Amino acid sequence: MSDKDESSNISPKIRNEKQTVEKLIHLYCEKKHNPSGGSLCSKCHDLLEYSHQRLEQCRYHEDKPTCRKCPTHCYKPNMRKEIRRVMRFSGPRLAFRAPLDWIKHRIHDTKDSKSEKRE
Ligand code: SF4
Ligand SMILES: [Zn+2]
Repeated sequence: MSDKDESSNISPKIRNEKQTVEKLIHLYCEKKHNPSGGSLCSKCHDLLEYSHQRLEQCRYHEDKPTCRKCPTHCYKPNMRKEIRRVMRFSGPRLAFRAPLDWIKHRIHDTKDSKSEKRE
């Protein structure tokens, strides 16, 4: 089987990161903005759309580092600020709600640190 998602032509790594960022933003919006019916407020909706678009167009493809450690962070400054705020808030909380997702994310992050040190 190919390592691309045939339905969307997105690699598994990008697909996983899209799912993680979606969970992080949903958690943030639920706690901070209290939107109705499990949906996102318009600001968080825009941030999610933007983050997904960035991931789909990531220049590193399957070799991408975590966005937090990316040397060429592609987010606009205001969106970068917003996603950092979301990560700071939702990261530790996701560790309780979806520990497996969070562990995978942290392993990816740790691998990036190790390869940075080797360089
Ligand atoms: S910040 Fe870096 S790793 Fe994240 S999507 Fe943009 S280019 Fe890719
Ligand atoms: Zn919101």
